Amino acid sequence: MDYKIALIRGDGIGPEVVEEAVGVLEAVGKKFGHTFTYEEVLLGGCATDAVGKSYPDGTAEKCKACDAVLLGAVGGPKWGADKPAEQRPETALLALRKDLELYANLRPAALRPALVDACPLKKETAERGIDLMMVRELTGGIYFGKRDRYQTEDRGTECTDLMAYSEKEIERIGRRAFELARLRRKKVSSVDKANVLETSRLWRSVMHRLAEEYPDVAYEDVLVDNCAMQIVRDPGQFDVVVTENMFGDILSDEASMVTGSIGLLPSASIGDTAPGLYEPIHGSAPDIAGQDKADPIATILSVAMMFRYSFQLPEEAEAVEKAVDAVLAEGWRTQDIAEPGVTPIGTREMGRRIREHI
Ligand code: NAD
Repeated sequence: MDYKIALIRGDGIGPEVVEEAVGVLEAVGKKFGHTFTYEEVLLGGCATDAVGKSYPDGTAEKCKACDAVLLGAVGGPKWGADKPAEQRPETALLALRKDLELYANLRPAALRPALVDACPLKKETAERGIDLMMVRELTGGIYFGKRDRYQTEDRGTECTDLMAYSEKEIERIGRRAFELARLRRKKVSSVDKANVLETSRLWRSVMHRLAEEYPDVAYEDVLVDNCAMQIVRDPGQFDVVVTENMFGDILSDEASMVTGSIGLLPSASIGDTAPGLYEPIHGSAPDIAGQDKADPIATILSVAMMFRYSFQLPEEAEAVEKAVDAVLAEGWRTQDIAEPGVTPIGTREMGRRIREHI
């Protein structure tokens, strides 16, 4: 098969980690008989420098003509908050997600077997294994609700942020979660605050209806405060965790911490029709950019997610994940995950070693 991939190399370490991920795509193509063609898409601070806007005209159309989008990272001090919105990299990222209607954010938090010691939790908890998929609703809830700020006579300034959800929005993210669970260990934990919030009560009722449609998937309700506690107490109990935008924002960062390094974690944002967007969870790391120090694993594992969720190629996804684990098991480390006394290898060498295993 031939797949067309939009490449957004971005800023900082973005180009370095994307380069290694492309190498992995090529290695997988060679092994499994696929070809990949690439559409270079300019976005972020580098686009501001080149054409004066971080989100050049036609970006969404270019991406929509591809089967998937791979993004390194965007941003950096050069294009900070003092710049007008159209020159800021973050504006471009939000616009792209919106234009591609990417409403589901998938963030796996999996502890790589060779890195059990990097897990900040108790050793016996880490050894039981951590492999959860956080499914966060990305386009609704309090981050997109109406907000207001006004003066009162007796209480000074007052503000409101409205959390709103429709049945339709909840159902589509819920369905995603149940479908994903079928590809994994067949368990969905739906996180809400139904003992307090009306949006959560609607969320829960929609999830219960879906649970009946997926009798082969185990289902549970978890209150968000309890979930935050369980992620550090016993994360191994979770398979797919589905939740609304703000809860997901917080819980996915918490879950990522229990796996060790920010340089290891991939993510995907997907919608119903447009191509999915695959990217590491880390940013552009300007402090180590251009020094061959960045860990390319998060971006390489984002390619594995692309194989699994956009191209329905689970074997290819597994080949990438196994190659990463094999290199880590041999003891090779970039500086972000190097144990004391271990001499780290660079971005390029890590990429090359992973390719060789594929
Ligand atoms: P960051 O993730 O870029 O870096 C945080 C720390 O982690 C730094 O010490 C960095 O060196 C390290 N780090 C990050 N990725 C690494 C990797 N692959 N290998 C080794 N070490 C790694 O977060 P930040 O410093 O808060 O943000 C820097 C810039 O990135 C900002 O402009 C921010 O807006 C942007 N950002 C972009 C995205 C994105 O493109 N999706 C996400 C987050 C932040």
